[in-house]
Amino acid sequence: MSAQIIDGKAISAQIKDELKAKTAALLEKGVKVTLAVVLVGEDPASQVYVRNKKRACEYIGYNSLSYELPEDTSEEELLKLIDELNGREDVDGILVQMPLPKHINEKKVIDAISPDKDVDGFHPMNVGALCIGEEGFVSCTPAGVIQLLKRGCDGKIDIAGKECVIVGRSNIVGKPMALLMLRENATVTVAHSKTKDLAEVCKRADILIAAVGKAGVITKDYVKEGAVVIDVGINRNADGKLCGDVAYDEVSEIAGAITPVPGGVGPMTIAMLMNNCYEAAVRKLK
Ligand code: NDP
Repeated sequence: MSAQIIDGKAISAQIKDELKAKTAALLEKGVKVTLAVVLVGEDPASQVYVRNKKRACEYIGYNSLSYELPEDTSEEELLKLIDELNGREDVDGILVQMPLPKHINEKKVIDAISPDKDVDGFHPMNVGALCIGEEGFVSCTPAGVIQLLKRGCDGKIDIAGKECVIVGRSNIVGKPMALLMLRENATVTVAHSKTKDLAEVCKRADILIAAVGKAGVITKDYVKEGAVVIDVGINRNADGKLCGDVAYDEVSEIAGAITPVPGGVGPMTIAMLMNNCYEAAVRKLK
C-alpha cells in the first residue's frame, strides 16, 4: 500500500489565504503588518529565500521593507540597523537572512533583535518561552511541521500519546521540534549522529521526523509500517536534484503518510514566518 501524501504546498497556501483574510480585517482597523527583511551579501540561495519572503508579504498584504547590504557591511553597521528597526513603531517583524558573512557573529545579531520582533523565533528569550510553555515566537520550520500534522490527512493524524522520533537536534529544527511535539503530548525521542542503532530507534516511531541534512539516510529499514514520516531535509542527490533525508520511493511503500521534497515542509516555513508576522502585529496592538 502506498502512503498518503501530506501536501505542504496546499496546506501552506491555505494558511496564507487565512492570513490574507485576517490581514484585510486588520487593515480595516488601520493596521498594516510590516516585516523588515535584511540581507547581507549576495549569496544566490539567500537572495531566492528573501525574494520568496517578499512575495509572500505582497500576496498576504503586508508591507515589506527591504535592506540589501553589501558583503563588506561591518557587524557594527548591521547591529546599528537592527537597533534602529527595533525602535521603529511601524516595524512588526525583523528578519535577518542567515547565513551571514563570516566576519559577522550570527549569535550577536540574533541576540540584538528585539524578542517582540523576532519572527524567526531564534532569540534565546523566545526559545526559553517555548521551553516553559509561555507565549513567544516559535521557529518557523518546526511550527510548520506541526501544521502539516494537524491539517494533513484530513486532520486524522493523532499526535497525543504517540511515539515520536526526531532525527536531528539543531537549534532551529530538531530541538524546537522536540519541544513542540512534547507540547502536543507526544512521547518524544531525539536522535542524532551519536545515537546507537538509529534504525531500531526510528522504527519505534508512530511519527518520524527527519532533520538530518543527508540525502536518503532514512530508508525503509528505519520506518515502522503505517508510520507518519515528515522529511525536513533539503539536499541535492548525485544528479543535482532536490531531495530530502528520506528515501522517498521505498519509504512511501510502507509509511502511512509522508511529506514529499520538494512540496512538503519547505513551503510551510514561509507560511509560518508570515503567521509570526501577523502575531507580532496583533500582540503589539494588545
Ligand atoms: P544541522 O546540520 O544543524 O543538524 C543536523 C542534525 O542531524 C544534527 O543534530 C546531527 O547530529 C544530525 N545528524 C547528522 N548526521 C546524522 C546521522 N548520520 N544520523 C543521525 N543524525 C545525524 O541541520 P539543520 O537542523 O539546520 O537542518 C537539517 C536539514 O533540514 C537540512 O537538510 C536543512 O537544509 C533542512 N532544513 C529545511 C528547512 C525547510 O524549510 N524545509 C529549514 C531548515 C532546515 P549532531 O548534533 O550529533 O551533529
